[in-house]
Amino acid sequence: MAQIETRDYDVVVIGGGPAGMGAALAAHEAGASTVVIERNEHLGGILRQCIHPGFGLTHFKEELTGPEYAQRFINRVREAGIDVMLGSMALGIDEGGREDAAHSVTVMGEDGMARLTCRSVVLAMGCRERTRFEIKIPGSRPAGVYTAGLAQRYINIENLRPGHRVVILGSGDIGLIMARRCALEGLEVEGVYELMPYANGLHRNVKNCLEDFGIPLHLSTTVTRVIGRDRVEAVEVSNVGEDLSPIPGTERIIPCDTLLLSVGLIPENELARAAGVEIDPRTRGARVDQDLQTNVDGIFSCGNVLQVHDLADNVTAEATRAGAAAAAHALGTARPDVLSEPVTLEPCGMAGYIVPARINRTVATKAFFRVRRPLEHAQLVIRAGDAVLFHGKTRDYKPSIMEAAPITPKMLAAVKPGETLTVSIDPVEEA
Ligand SMILES: Cc1cc2nc3c(=O)[nH]c(=O)nc-3n(C[C@H](O)[C@H](O)[C@H](O)COP(=O)(O)OP(=O)(O)OC[C@H]3O[C@@H](n4cnc5c(N)ncnc54)[C@H](O)[C@@H]3O)c2cc1C
Repeated sequence: MAQIETRDYDVVVIGGGPAGMGAALAAHEAGASTVVIERNEHLGGILRQCIHPGFGLTHFKEELTGPEYAQRFINRVREAGIDVMLGSMALGIDEGGREDAAHSVTVMGEDGMARLTCRSVVLAMGCRERTRFEIKIPGSRPAGVYTAGLAQRYINIENLRPGHRVVILGSGDIGLIMARRCALEGLEVEGVYELMPYANGLHRNVKNCLEDFGIPLHLSTTVTRVIGRDRVEAVEVSNVGEDLSPIPGTERIIPCDTLLLSVGLIPENELARAAGVEIDPRTRGARVDQDLQTNVDGIFSCGNVLQVHDLADNVTAEATRAGAAAAAHALGTARPDVLSEPVTLEPCGMAGYIVPARINRTVATKAFFRVRRPLEHAQLVIRAGDAVLFHGKTRDYKPSIMEAAPITPKMLAAVKPGETLTVSIDPVEEA
């Protein structure tokens, strides 16, 4: 039987998007031998197909397209001489079987299988899009139903036209950006339909991608049937009530040959689950500590596989933390000041989730969350049990924006055994 090639690293990074590259650069800079595994033939992840501007405003203080933003990191990875395995799929994470190599990552590449032993693994596998199957739209199964990201790939990378008359379901950023992209390519965009009573994407994208192009946004409306035999001929849309169920009698038929679905992203955590990583049902990402380490010693998580980000700049910042922490773990330089009992963080009120889920050390850090629906006049309140430790200014909150709550050593010290630190967004009554 052929021998499987085995190589040893301090840090193995799975995924070569902005998260994987950011983590690899930080690990390398901290002195750890590092490899990036990427299943595609190129580094860059989803950014390769995001040819619109809007990237890099925080990190580079200039506005770049997705490929430009990615290329800056690809150049740095190359210049640093970090090992990169392209066309290589990570298949599993197992125990390393040696005291000096806690983990082993099995990889299928162009040259066959390889086994990479290491002390730390960084999960940076990104997200996949939810499909028609996952949201269960009834009707026939003709050609012409695409996820928005697939259509983006066809248009921006393959130079293919997905159709002529388009309906878009979902007003998250990907749906909004694709509405504009289709319009720019000469496709007729009939409208964007959104289940919720508000747009899910960033305000700037509603303005720049829909309003500037005269594309209507239909709120509290969903696609209730796909019509067509071989190719989509129309979709049926219906208004929805407060319970988000279609209201009988509001059905109308919209002629179109293409339906683009932009109905959410799902972190690609199959590998993580199989490795025993605990998954938060709210984010569908790993439950991590302040260093972005999961419950499995030496496995870290960052980027969209941890929590869905709207800004690549935030992915880079998070990945830099994960890479540095993975290197410190691998090299034995991680700070040992662990609390006797980790402090558990819980989202509360209108906060839909919280990352990190626990803090093991007295450290100043930030906890990230999103609200579950838009709120006017609301306040961030941090509590230990019933005691209020912090409250922020009254302001508006939107689900499209990732928020950060400050966590201080003083707050951590105030949490008594058995209590959790709750991060809450509470509505404020107008005077
Ligand atoms: C349509 C769209 C528009 C956007 N617009 C903006 C914008 O204007 N501004 C902005 O700042 N951000 C924008 N973003 C957000 C930003 O692009 C993402 O947040 C960011 O790309 C996430 O990076 P990531 O590395 O976590 O994931 P990805 O970029 O998805 O990278 C993950 C990588 O992991 C690889 N991988 C997965 N599993 C495996 C495996 N088992 N083995 C090997 N490799 C694997 C994948 O092939 C992929 O290359 C947009 C995103 C989309 C989709």
